[in-house]
Amino acid sequence: MKFADLHLHTQFSDGTFTPEELVLRAQNTGLAGIALTDHDTVEGCARAAAACAAGQMEFIVGTELTAEHEDIEVHILGYFLDPQNRRLLERLAQFQAVRQNRIREMVAALNRLGLALRAETVFALANCKSPGRPHVARALVKEKLISNLDEAFERYLKKGRPAWVPKCKMSALESVELIHQAGGLAVMAHPGLNRTDDIIPALVAAGLDGIECFHTKHSTVMAERYLEIAEKYHLLVTGGSDCHGFSKKAPLIGTIRLPYDHVEKLKAKVAERKSKNRG
Ligand code: AMP
Ligand code: ZN
Ligand code: FE
Ligand code: FE
Repeated sequence: MKFADLHLHTQFSDGTFTPEELVLRAQNTGLAGIALTDHDTVEGCARAAAACAAGQMEFIVGTELTAEHEDIEVHILGYFLDPQNRRLLERLAQFQAVRQNRIREMVAALNRLGLALRAETVFALANCKSPGRPHVARALVKEKLISNLDEAFERYLKKGRPAWVPKCKMSALESVELIHQAGGLAVMAHPGLNRTDDIIPALVAAGLDGIECFHTKHSTVMAERYLEIAEKYHLLVTGGSDCHGFSKKAPLIGTIRLPYDHVEKLKAKVAERKSKNRG
């Protein structure tokens, strides 16, 4: 049997692995294919693709868009995207700029609280276009302004704490369209995490292609529930570990093993859409 992990993060967003380290671990855990799904970016995909090609592993270009529908946060995974697609890159660049401004706002709030952190320190540490709160937390630890990452979130960065700044999100309906025009499939990420079931019909109406039934934080009961929902709405089924490297205890890669027939179905849908667009 062949398996894939279709939800993985690297240093190009808030994971701790380089694309090469991630691919090596994927190989060591016996996966036949992976997708890289860094938040609001496809920056790491070229390196991951090269590492996969060298290791005879299948690579799927992906991203995880931070979106919302009717004030409900929902993450939309995009798969098989053209990483050069102009509109996709332009829109991602806008959201990346907003993320960078958010870092500056969080740092300013920390400064007002008497913590001498500089935004440049966070950017240097993040070294990617799509920085987030984990980078602020890591910078606070690096500068010895706090003793560990959990404390950084508990005291300053989690929702409602004094340095928390809300995140700007793309409309979920736009994110589906953006992924489609870039040649990709749009998939609702970890629906069991965000209590997003109510918005599934609206996303389906917008052309949602799939739903992530298998996820590290989904119980067996949840997975079964979303498999039923997938069947009801004719959605493709995906799954992934949502591995962020060492940022959350042990790396999760390999803990979700999606049987490859689901990958083949995704590929068939991409191919079908391509031929339709040509015809
Ligand atoms: P952001 O996208 O900037 O809002 O940051 C979200 C990231 O921060 C995700 O990877 C979360 O897992 C991580 N995160 C959120 N809350 C905590 C927490 N209390 N402790 C550690 N990491 C967290
Ligand atoms: Zn993340
Ligand atoms: Fe997510
Ligand atoms: Fe994720």
